[in-house]
Amino acid sequence: MTIFDYSNGVLRAESVPLPEIAQKVDTPFYCYSAQRLRDNYESFSSAFNELNATIYYAIKANGNQATIRTLAACGAGADIVSVGELMRALEAGIPPGKIVFSSAGKTEDEIKAALIAHIYQLNVESMPELKLISQIATETGTTAPIALRINPDVNAGTHEKISTGHKETKFGIEISQLYEAMNLATTLPGVSFKGFTMHIGSHINDYAPFREAYSRLRELVEDWRARGVKIERLDLGGGVAIPYDKDDETTPFSEYAKIVRETVGDLGCHLSFEPGRRLVGDAGILVSRVLYVKDTPSKRFVIIDAAMNDLVRPAMYGARHSIIPVEFNKSGETTLATVAGAVCETSDSFGDDFALPTTIKAGDLIAILQAGAYGSAMSSTYNARPLIPEVIVLKEVFAQTRRRISVAEQISWDSIPKWL
Ligand SMILES: *Cc1c(COP(=O)(O)O)cnc(C)c1O
Repeated sequence: MTIFDYSNGVLRAESVPLPEIAQKVDTPFYCYSAQRLRDNYESFSSAFNELNATIYYAIKANGNQATIRTLAACGAGADIVSVGELMRALEAGIPPGKIVFSSAGKTEDEIKAALIAHIYQLNVESMPELKLISQIATETGTTAPIALRINPDVNAGTHEKISTGHKETKFGIEISQLYEAMNLATTLPGVSFKGFTMHIGSHINDYAPFREAYSRLRELVEDWRARGVKIERLDLGGGVAIPYDKDDETTPFSEYAKIVRETVGDLGCHLSFEPGRRLVGDAGILVSRVLYVKDTPSKRFVIIDAAMNDLVRPAMYGARHSIIPVEFNKSGETTLATVAGAVCETSDSFGDDFALPTTIKAGDLIAILQAGAYGSAMSSTYNARPLIPEVIVLKEVFAQTRRRISVAEQISWDSIPKWL
């Protein structure tokens, strides 16, 4: 079943026509398919069935409580990057024993909260962090289960802003410093060394860097085992790409699973993954209304009521998401258009040359696809715009999972000192 598909010329989310949701919550809004979230979890986990791997959903990709709950119900744990995400994960019903904490900048308070909650693992990114974890664990009378995040120095071949596995980045421990780090990890009080972790970047479509990184990981496991260190766990990170535009070709996921099996599958380590985008990206769309169709001698602009503050990926990473009309007449003509929002920046454009109905007009609805990951999660109130609602659909029912956060409410967050 295609999750977002036309029925009688009207785009639906599962079995719900999108105009019905637009009528109820107004535009713009994010819409997620619960079925798609479940299917994505199932296809990820079934690729590793025989390896008995654990999936920690990287909740930074989409932190709505309903999204987390849907994946938690499938069996997912959580990969968190802040104490805020720890609160979100626990609140959505993920048990502490299924939470891993990655971040190059964990604060004292965050480490303490993670230890007191007894999470499964802290992924350590530096030696000063390791020493601080040891100190806090000793003070709080806890033991910190830790994995060292290795910086394998591979180029993930993805957008530079989301490449995290080469040594010029702030992430992980460089292999040249691993001896020293292992010395600390296996001797400091309050920490229990469990294994290694890696995350080399996001939206990686050419899987060769995964092979390179995981092969390096294998060498490290063999090397340290030979020195008598017990290595029980390998956390392989996230980063698998999804297709965004209709012409994007992505490597089949089975190839990724094959690389995992071939590089680290036989080491007898418990394997885990931290996928974000792969679980939620294509489970969400952004629905927006056309405000103006502006024809100029050189171009057609379709100005919509969603903007870069709602979905920043095009402006931030040069990403191109497919855009399709919600009402579609197969025999109708199309005209190429630039689709843009209202924000006062030229970067507030979703891209050029989208084939939209020639007859498109103010008031029509359009859908921006593959917007489930790093969409709402990265949205802001820039230009004093409301934060937009989120909706989840299952079969023929839908519910709002976040209300629109009005500008009046945002104003109430501020205060003016008396002496001004
Ligand atoms: C962002 C991130 C992920 C998830 O990345 P995706 O590309 O969304 O799969 C996983 N692990 C860590 C440490 C991350 O920072």
